This record gives sequence, structure tokens and C-alpha cells, in this order.
Amino acid sequence: MKTWDVIVIGGGIVGLSLAIELRKRGATVLVVERGEPGREASHAAGGMLVDCGDETPAALQDLAIASARIYPEFAQELQVESGMRVDLRDQGAIVFPPPEHVHEGRGCEAGSLLPAPLAQLEPALADHQRPAFFLNERSVGPRAITAAALETAKRRGVDISSGEEVTAVNLSEEKVHGVTTRKTSYVAKKVVNCAGAWSGQIAPHQFPTRPVKGQMLCLIAPSRDLLRHVIRAPEVYLIPRSDGRIIVGTTVEEAGFDKRTDVAAIQRLHRAAIALVPELRNAKILEDWAGLRPGTPDSLPILGATSTPGYFVATGHFRDGILLAPITARIMAQVMSGETCNYELRAFSPARFTAGSA
Ligand SMILES: Cc1cc2nc3c(=O)[nH]c(=O)nc-3n(C[C@H](O)[C@H](O)[C@H](O)COP(=O)(O)OP(=O)(O)OC[C@H]3O[C@@H](n4cnc5c(N)ncnc54)[C@H](O)[C@@H]3O)c2cc1C
Repeated sequence: MKTWDVIVIGGGIVGLSLAIELRKRGATVLVVERGEPGREASHAAGGMLVDCGDETPAALQDLAIASARIYPEFAQELQVESGMRVDLRDQGAIVFPPPEHVHEGRGCEAGSLLPAPLAQLEPALADHQRPAFFLNERSVGPRAITAAALETAKRRGVDISSGEEVTAVNLSEEKVHGVTTRKTSYVAKKVVNCAGAWSGQIAPHQFPTRPVKGQMLCLIAPSRDLLRHVIRAPEVYLIPRSDGRIIVGTTVEEAGFDKRTDVAAIQRLHRAAIALVPELRNAKILEDWAGLRPGTPDSLPILGATSTPGYFVATGHFRDGILLAPITARIMAQVMSGETCNYELRAFSPARFTAGSA
């Protein structure tokens, strides 16, 4: 019977990036995916690589900055190895802060004055007088980078088993021995749970992840260069892709495992996009969708070893999983190989949710 060094549960961007990193270190790796790899949150995301923002918890800043720093290398490696483009863009973001922040003189500390007048940077914006700042951040195509990660993983010899739902992690003498799926079982001495919003459903540990729904919309701009920068306003954000698509987001909803879109929410996003950039009135709607972010009670990821020898977890990346995938892969590969990790991980420890833990 074939066995592996590591089984990764879940083939989203987090599981695939980690599988590649483990394979690079010589481990044999099997990714077990319930549906098709890369079709859940990683398919639904906008792809902003925000390493500094009001929504990034303070405890996450160092990891976010580190991940943003290594992103070009991560993206380049996936592009070269997969032969696929990932649309990493570095034009930066124009951010319209909420009015209360403007009144309080608050903004992101790393944000700077606009490099040029708004009318020059983005002529299509409706209001060139609105207070705004500039962030030197990137964006990426989440579907493209996840597809490139899948192809890279395959080319590097990672085994992928799709359409296989893991129901339990198997133990033998209290150590990990593999996983059971609805169809069969697989043997490995190490297992890592990267099942996103569903991570809490797999025995024996009950990680407190929950789905946080986000609805999105994709427009085809009337001209390819209508927008160059990511535009972020409190009411809506717009992410231009190099092929002329513009991603419009998003809602943040507690709706359980419901991935349906609703017309009212999509129309509200559409109207807000047109108010920001009137020419989008002439844009075609290509598609709308909803995805489930893996949320946690403190909005921080869950990273590290569990109390069960051989069982690890990398989940709960909430609104930042596309950004955090490369640093998560590096850190988790170090932790799982027993190496010293370069980062302080206490804030992300799975033990923080265990009753009576320090
Ligand atoms: C609308 C929206 C916008 C977003 N925008 C951004 C953004 O701009 N920037 C950013 O950085 N992040 C963004 N995110 C967040 C980002 O998408 C997630 O944090 C990230 O995709 C999480 O990746 P993952 O691999 O952990 O989860 P997923 O991509 O959900 O992958 C988990 C995988 O596990 C599989 N699985 C689940 N249960 C089992 C099981 N029992 N057995 C086997 N497989 C299983 C699932 O089928 C799935 O494929 C956004 C998310 C949404 C929904």
C-alpha cells in the first residue's frame, strides 16, 4: 500500500502552497481535496495583497508584511514552473478612508500622499477632490495563482486526490496514522489540516473556524485601461485585472455555509462601483459569486502543531489568505520539519482555543 510523509487536507491556496514547500524539502505529499482543488475561498477572493490596513489585526502585521515582501518571488516561481500567468500587478492602491478617519486625521501609517493628482492617476473617478492616500501594494489573480500552484504541485510530484472528503484524522497509539475519507483511507505519519472554513469539521480536533460569506461581481471595463490602481473605499473596492476585468467587492456576512448570491447585495455593489467610476455604467457584468472566508473568533489564523503528535493545522486566514499563503507555507514547512521558525507564532497557536491553555 502506498504511504506518504505528509497528507494535506484541502487543496486551496494554503494547502497547495504548503504541499509545494514540503515537496521542495524532499517530503512525499498527498493533497486530499473534497471537491476540485482551488474552487472555494481561493477561487472567490479579490486578490488584494494588503499588508497594512485598518482591517489587518496588529498581531498579523509582521506576517502580512513578510508575505507581501516575498510575493514577487512566490508568484514568479509558480509562473515559471507552471507555465501559467498569475497577473501580479504592482500599480498600488488608492484608498478613500471613511469620513470619520478623515476628520480624526487618521490613515494607514504606511500610506502616503498621492504621487500625482487624482485626476491624473485615475481620470475615470467621479470625484477627484475626495481625500485619498496611496498604498504601494500589489494585487494578484487568485484563480490564476491557485491554478498555477496546483499545476506546480503536480509537476513537482505532489499527489492530488480530488472528490475525496476527509472525515477523520486517524490515530494509532495517540499518534497520527493518516486520514479516513468517505471512500477510503490514506496512510501518513504527518497530517496538516488546510480545509479553510471547514477545518473545524474534521475529528479529532474542533478548530473554531466559521464561514464568513463574501459576495463579488466581475465587470468587463469598456476600455482595458479604464483603471490602473486598486481603488478602495468604505462602500466598495475595485480591483482591475490586466485583461480588462474589474472585480467589485464585497459583503462580509455571517450566513453559515450558504454560497448563494442575492440580487440586492450584488446590485448595491454594482451601484457603488458606478458611483465611484461612472463609466462602469457601460461595463458588462461577466459574473457574480459568493465565497466563504475561513474566520476565527479572534480573526487570526490558526497555525502550528496540535496536541496530537503528527497533526498540524494551517487555517483561519479570513480576509488575507491569498496574501498570507507564501509565508504560511514557509513557516508551516519549518514547523512540520522540526526546524526553528523565524517568526513568533504564539498568537496563532491552536492551543489558544483549548480550555485552560496558557
Ligand atoms: C469574497 C472574498 C474576497 C477575498 N478577498 C481577498 C483578498 O483580496 N486578499 C486576500 O489575501 N484574501 C482574500 N480573501 C480570503 C482568501 O480567499 C482566503 O483567506 C483563502 O482563500 C483561504 O485559503 P484556504 O486554502 O485556507 O481555503 P480554501 O480556498 O477555502 O480551501 C480549502 C479547501 O479545503 C477543502 N476541504 C474542506 N473540507 C474538506 C475535507 N473534509 N476534506 C477534504 N477537503 C476539504 C475545500 O473544498 C477547499 O478546496 C477573500 C475571500 C473571499 C470569500
